[in-house]
Amino acid sequence: MTYQRVLLKLSGEALMGDLGYGIDPKVVADIAQEVAEVVQLGVQLAIVVGGGNIFRGVKASAAGMDRATADYIGMIATVMNAMTLQDALERSNVPTRVLTAIAMQEVAETYIRRRAIRHLEKGRVVIFGAGSGNPFFTTDTTAALRAAEIDAEVVFKATKVDGVYDADPTTNPQARRFETLSYSHVLTHDLKVMDSTAIALCKDNNIPIMVFDLSVPGNIVRAIKGEPVGTLVGGSCAVS
Ligand code: UDP
Repeated sequence: MTYQRVLLKLSGEALMGDLGYGIDPKVVADIAQEVAEVVQLGVQLAIVVGGGNIFRGVKASAAGMDRATADYIGMIATVMNAMTLQDALERSNVPTRVLTAIAMQEVAETYIRRRAIRHLEKGRVVIFGAGSGNPFFTTDTTAALRAAEIDAEVVFKATKVDGVYDADPTTNPQARRFETLSYSHVLTHDLKVMDSTAIALCKDNNIPIMVFDLSVPGNIVRAIKGEPVGTLVGGSCAVS
C-alpha cells in the first residue's frame, strides 16, 4: 500500500446522493462497503464528515442568523452524519468510533488526540464529528487539522469530479485535468479544491491532498494503492 494512515474528507453532500437534502441510506451503505475494503487492507482510516447536506452556517448567516450560532448548528449537523456513517460501518462489520469536537458524551466520545490515534492503531475507523469545534471554520479545514494531528500521510478529498481542471470541464471541452498541482498554484488561482485555510495548513505541514471522484466504485482503494485516480496537490504542476 502507498499509504498506511489516511484522512478521508467526506462532504455532507457525498451522503446525500441525488436527494437534494439529508442522507441517502443506499449511498451511505456503498461508502461503508468501500471503507470496509480499505480496513481489510490494514490501512488506518480516519474520516472527517461535513454537514452541508443538512445545514450550512454561511448560508444561514446570509439569511440573517448570527454566524457563530449558525456555525454551531452546522457542526451539530455533522454529528448526525457521523453517527449515520458509524451505523452503516458497523453493519458492515467495521469497528468504528465517533469522536466529537463538541462534547456530547451520551452519543459519542469527546475528541482527544491520543485516543484517536490509539483507536486507529487498534484497527478502528475513527470518524471526527462536530468539525473543529470552532465557528468560522469548515470541515475541509478540520480535515487538514486532524490529518496533521494524527500524522496522516495524505488527505483524500472525495468529490463528484475526477480531479482538478484548468477550466470548467462541463462547459469547456478544452479543459485539462491536472495530474499533480502545487499548493501555491491552488492558492494563487483560487482553485476550488478545499478552502484556502485548509490548503495553507496542508502546505505548512507537507500533507498531500488527493482529489478524486467518490462515485466511481473502488476509487478509495485505488487511491490508497497509489493509482492516479484524480489530482494530487502537493507536487509541481502537471496536466494529464
Ligand atoms: N462548521 C464550523 N466549524 C468547523 C466545521 C464546520 O462552524 O470547524 C460548520 C459550518 O457552519 C459549516 C457546517 O458546519 O457550514 C457544515 O460543514 P461544511 O460546510 O464544511 O460541510 P460540507 O461542505 O463538507 O458538507
